[in-house]
Amino acid sequence: SSPNTDLLQVENLGIAFGGLQAVSGVNYRVTPNAINAVIGPNGAGKSTFFNLLSGFYKPTSGRILWRGQDVTRVPAHEMAKLGIARTFQTTSLFKELPIIENVLLGTRLRGRSGVWDAILRTSRLKREENEARERASWALDFVGLGPNDPRPVAMLTQEAQKRVSIAIALATNPNLVLLDEPAAGINPEETAGLTRLIRKMTEHGLTVLLIEHKMNMIMNLANHIMVLHHGQKIAEGTPQEVQGDPAVISAYLGG
Ligand code: ADP
Ligand code: MG
Repeated sequence: SSPNTDLLQVENLGIAFGGLQAVSGVNYRVTPNAINAVIGPNGAGKSTFFNLLSGFYKPTSGRILWRGQDVTRVPAHEMAKLGIARTFQTTSLFKELPIIENVLLGTRLRGRSGVWDAILRTSRLKREENEARERASWALDFVGLGPNDPRPVAMLTQEAQKRVSIAIALATNPNLVLLDEPAAGINPEETAGLTRLIRKMTEHGLTVLLIEHKMNMIMNLANHIMVLHHGQKIAEGTPQEVQGDPAVISAYLGG
C-alpha cells in the first residue's frame, strides 16, 4: 500500500540489552483500521516491541515509520502527539482520585499538552481545559464508564480500572492504540466485554495493536497476527494461518 494509507511500519527493528537481543530484525506493517495482534511465549519480546513503537526504548537497529515518516528517534511524548497511544498498567493510575481526574491527568502527562500546562493554569489554558474535559467525558462514555461517576479509581473493579486506562489512551485522540495484555487477570465474562470494546474501537475508525495471552480471545478478535519468539518474527497472517504454522506450534510447546 502507499505511504498515505500506511500507519505504522517497522524495518529490521531490533534492540539489545547488553548481550540479550530482545527484539531482532523485525519487519512488520500494521493493518490500518483493523485489530492487529502480537503473540508469543513469555519473554518473546512483545512488550519490548511495544516500548520501541511508542518511543520508550530506542532501537539498536532498524527504522520505525509513521505514515511514511521516519520516527525512529522521536521521544515517547512526541509519539503520543503524532497519534500513537498506549495503555499503561492499572498500577500507574492515581487510585485515590476520581475516574475523570485520572483521564485528565493521564492525557496531560502522556498526551498533547505538557506537565507545565497542568501546573501553569493561564486563561488560554482554560479553553484547553474545557476541551480536555469534553474529550475525557467522551472517552469514558466510549469505554462504558460514567463521566460523572465520583468514585475514586480504587473503588472500581480491576476490569473497570482497565477501562480507565483505555479511556486515558483514547482521550489523547489517537489513530493507533497499543494495548499490552488488556485481558490479563480478568474473568471470561469481562473478557467478552473487553472484546466488544476493542471491536468498537475499530468501528470508530481506530487501528488497534494488542498483545494478548488469551488465545481464544485473540483468535476470535484479531484480523492479523504476528508471532514473536526469542525476539524474532516467526510467523504472521490470519488467525487460521498462524494457528496451523508448525513454527508457532513448536514455539508454544517450548521449542
Ligand atoms: P514479553 O513481553 O514477550 O513477555 P519482554 O519484551 O518483556 O517479553 O522481554 C523480552 C526480553 O527482554 C526478556 O528476556 C526481558 O528480560 C528482556 N528485557 C526487557 N526489557 C528489558 C530492559 N529494560 N533491560 C534488560 N532486559 C530487558
Ligand atoms: Mg510482556
